[in-house]
Amino acid sequence: MSSSYVIIGDGIAGSSAAETLHDAEPDADITVITDEGEALYNRILIKEFAKGRMPEAPISIHSPDWYGERGIDLQLNTHVTTVDTDGHSVETHSGGSYEYDKLLVATGGTPTQLPVDNSDVEGIEHFWTFEDARAIKEGAQAAENGVIVGAGLLGIDLAAICGAQDVEANYLMRGECWWRYALSPEGAEIIHDALREKNVTPVFESGVDHFETDDDGHVTAAVDPNGERFKADFVGAAIGLDFNTEFLRDTDIELDWGIVTDEHMQTNVKDVYAAGDITQFHDVLLGERAQNGAWGSAKEQGSVAAKNMLGEWGEPSETFEWVSSYSITHFDFPFLSFGHPTLGDDEVEKKYSDTEWRRVALKDGKVVGGVLIGDLAPQSKLKQLAREQVDVSDQKDLLLEETIEIEKFDGIEA
Ligand SMILES: Cc1cc2nc3c(=O)[nH]c(=O)nc-3n(C[C@H](O)[C@H](O)[C@H](O)COP(=O)(O)OP(=O)(O)OC[C@H]3O[C@@H](n4cnc5c(N)ncnc54)[C@H](O)[C@@H]3O)c2cc1C
Repeated sequence: MSSSYVIIGDGIAGSSAAETLHDAEPDADITVITDEGEALYNRILIKEFAKGRMPEAPISIHSPDWYGERGIDLQLNTHVTTVDTDGHSVETHSGGSYEYDKLLVATGGTPTQLPVDNSDVEGIEHFWTFEDARAIKEGAQAAENGVIVGAGLLGIDLAAICGAQDVEANYLMRGECWWRYALSPEGAEIIHDALREKNVTPVFESGVDHFETDDDGHVTAAVDPNGERFKADFVGAAIGLDFNTEFLRDTDIELDWGIVTDEHMQTNVKDVYAAGDITQFHDVLLGERAQNGAWGSAKEQGSVAAKNMLGEWGEPSETFEWVSSYSITHFDFPFLSFGHPTLGDDEVEKKYSDTEWRRVALKDGKVVGGVLIGDLAPQSKLKQLAREQVDVSDQKDLLLEETIEIEKFDGIEA
């Protein structure tokens, strides 16, 4: 008899798991449940849509027919409310019930709302779904003045959207530079200059104390903790994610700012797996628990989870071993972060020109992540050093040579 698999979430993690399961077991009974109204699309590209640079059609990856043709039961607009891990079943908001032999939770996160007055009024947008992108595009096109909050990878997308849509914007940051956990002020200054060129002004040691609105309840300004007022008829907020685990509250599944898994994407509860942004997985390269927020990583986790779901519980065949990467393409120069650029106990960095900078994060003498601005050529070699866990503590200078010569490192595999 074929197995039954239920997958919660039709992002890249859930969808890649469904595809892997179907390819290996074409007769398997696979159900994919998503609370979004559309099948898998490219979340990375929705920012280009919101900028007005890309039509909707190429952003879609699968139509509902793609699932139908493979016998996969896709349930759109369906929110999972509870999971019964003893009874092996999943309940939905509409009273639906799905039984499973194996369950994959791939529900990702939802943007955190700013905990300040008026943070839910009209004109304040958060960014995660295609629906959000449609609202952001419309809001930005109609706006004259913008405020962006959240000095990270999603915040900069919102800033770039303002730039592309001719919204004069202030980008309010809490510290002294953009993405202060991964970049130093020297490296971040390259980004600040590029933002200014797009008419987006970085404002440091700032943030939001509260928002002001007009009589119709539409945002008109953000006031920062220093009392400074920034006019805004469009606000983009990206201060982090809340992970979608609410429906697991009555289970014994271990949660910790996401779902805890081992390196095989198995949770602590029999027959339940997790993949994608939602996981706090055991990172075999780092030697500790970690979380990724990147497309390629989520896709790979979905595939690893599925391969292990095909086998016996507790006898996994596949291990997630991955150095993720995340690139930004808003500027004239390329930008890439890899691995865990905000972790580690040491780092080296160097500025090479007005648009070229590199930082490598180290933990216990080994490369765990970094940021490259301007020249991405060292990417594959730095990732190789991370994958092979080469001790570079006595060879840190080599990491900053303009052209990294991998064979110069002691301990690298030829
Ligand atoms: C604007 C934007 C730009 C990005 N740019 C990049 C980039 O350039 N490079 C990069 O590597 N990454 C980028 N990312 C991050 C990347 O898109 C994510 O890491 C990846 O999509 C995570 O996939 P996932 O499948 O784990 O989760 P998600 O894609 O979040 O999918 C989870 C799905 O589960 C659904 N769901 C949640 N709870 C329930 C429930 N209870 N019942 C039913 N369904 C539920 C959600 O609605 C969602 O559809 C970007 C993200 C955004 C939002």
